Amino acid sequence: MTFSIHGLPVARGVAIGRAVLVASSRVDVAHYFIDASQIATEIDRVRVGRNAVMEEIQRLQQSIVQMGPQASPHELSAILDVHLMLLQDEMLISGVKHWITDRLYNAEWALTTQLELIARQFDEMEDEYLRERKADLEQVVERILRYMKGVASPVAPPVRRSGAGRQQDLLLDDTMDVPLVLIAHDLSPADMLQFKQSVFAGFVTDVGGKTSHTAIVARSMDIPAVVGARGASQMVRQDDWVVIDGDAGVVIVDPSAIILAEYGFKQRQAEVERTRLSRLLHTPAVTLDGQPVQLLANIEMPDDAAAALKAGATGVGLFRSEFLFMGRQGNLPGEEEQYQAYRRAVEGMQGLPVTIRTVDVGADKPLDRSMKDGAHLNPALGLRAIRWSLADPAMFLDQLRAILRAATHGPVHLLIPMLAHGSEIRQTLALVDQARAELDEQNVPHGPVQLGAMIEIPAAALTLKLFLKYFDFLSIGTNDLIQYTLAIDRADESVAHLYDPLHPAVLRLVADTIAECRRQSKGVSVCGEMAGDASLTRLLLGLGLRSFSMHPAQILTIKQEVLRSDATSLEPWAQQVLESEDPSLTLAA
Ligand code: PEP
Ligand code: MG
Repeated sequence: MTFSIHGLPVARGVAIGRAVLVASSRVDVAHYFIDASQIATEIDRVRVGRNAVMEEIQRLQQSIVQMGPQASPHELSAILDVHLMLLQDEMLISGVKHWITDRLYNAEWALTTQLELIARQFDEMEDEYLRERKADLEQVVERILRYMKGVASPVAPPVRRSGAGRQQDLLLDDTMDVPLVLIAHDLSPADMLQFKQSVFAGFVTDVGGKTSHTAIVARSMDIPAVVGARGASQMVRQDDWVVIDGDAGVVIVDPSAIILAEYGFKQRQAEVERTRLSRLLHTPAVTLDGQPVQLLANIEMPDDAAAALKAGATGVGLFRSEFLFMGRQGNLPGEEEQYQAYRRAVEGMQGLPVTIRTVDVGADKPLDRSMKDGAHLNPALGLRAIRWSLADPAMFLDQLRAILRAATHGPVHLLIPMLAHGSEIRQTLALVDQARAELDEQNVPHGPVQLGAMIEIPAAALTLKLFLKYFDFLSIGTNDLIQYTLAIDRADESVAHLYDPLHPAVLRLVADTIAECRRQSKGVSVCGEMAGDASLTRLLLGLGLRSFSMHPAQILTIKQEVLRSDATSLEPWAQQVLESEDPSLTLAA
């Protein structure tokens, strides 16, 4: 039966494929596709894990017997019997083998997928006793996962065929020429990064806001995605056919033939539009009245530089360096590893500038999923970004030295996130000087960098003169600026309707920042999601912005807007929008 689920559109386009559900296990689990040659090894890992857990339970049972009936309740032994039985359950074993052999899931993913499948069957059981066995099953599978976590995985996540955005490339394997779409309750930004190398044609999550970092990574992959589709991971079943309409934020499950035909048509139309836009690739981004505009790329990993160049970016406006730090179980990259990564990005851009933002973890970007910040009530207001760096100067100095060294390979701009206080600015700059001095002392070559600050806290936007006294350029992080100005958690779908880039207060802070930088002839760009939103390009041009940084996939769309705009004549109109009570109405008029 066809039904639809509504969420928030985060990445455009239409994806049609079979659902792959990523179960949310309490144990942090890696999800990746293995190579066919690794099937036997993965099955063996599960077998070894299962046997180890069985032995553990049997040992426990023996010790219970030795303790005697007084010391341990009889029920405990019965529960352990049930656990042993579940571990030998044919449905669990054969199901896990199926996901590994036929779908090439890694062992942990196969286990959680099969757990989810059986758990749903338990949920549907009439018998209460049997229904309650679900918790036992979860416990034994988690025991196996924990055991496996303690034993290093012999296989590295292989890179499968890439070519994000191209439906025909997004096939799982030759035997199953079917695109796959991923459905999950939640995915951390680190998870998303892992999936970036994979084969999915689209994503859906139950939770998340439009500018949550998970959504941002989905957008950077240029594949249709919907977040905040509440209940999707419960309502969609493994292998269901699903249409993801990333423009409307709708997920259609089990679509009828008519719906499929309609969306197939939409997909072809999008492909035609893509081809049309590609003709603009080598056209310089200049407005009708001759004003050049910089269209820069936001990247997450050094190798994204290639995609940025291919999309026609004239530099990297935001390298979110924190993605180098994620999913490493606290084993953070040192100076040398970071230097090699930044150098790859700089060399990849072939002489175009690369803006490296120092690490911005915290809030909805935990280093590891298991480290999700539950201890603090307001992690977005907590130890995040520069606050985190300043709290660990040795770690920060490693990063600063690595960036300064990378600057010998091409133009580098150093960007600092989340500054609000003069003291933070001075402390940061002193550490930059210290990093330089340390390199000098060790005779290690380093290059010059332009220093920039992100304007993403209202306090910063209201003290621009202070910032411009110390920095060469500013970059407006509208994602956070909106979040902090309007007190709306950007990752929370329940308040997503109030997350408004066109709120007069937000526009005022953006406009004043651009104007003050221009007055002082300092560089200014927008690197939040507003820069890649074509419906806002004319407004930002009218406010004087000449540098936009966005996901590479958006560059040609924004270039088209630039080419059609007369920046000078947009100025009075932009002021009108700024002054109006409801800017969204004035903008649309
Ligand atoms: C922003 O806040 O607008 C920004 C670009 O930084 P991030 O999205 O990584 O917080
Ligand atoms: Mg930010």
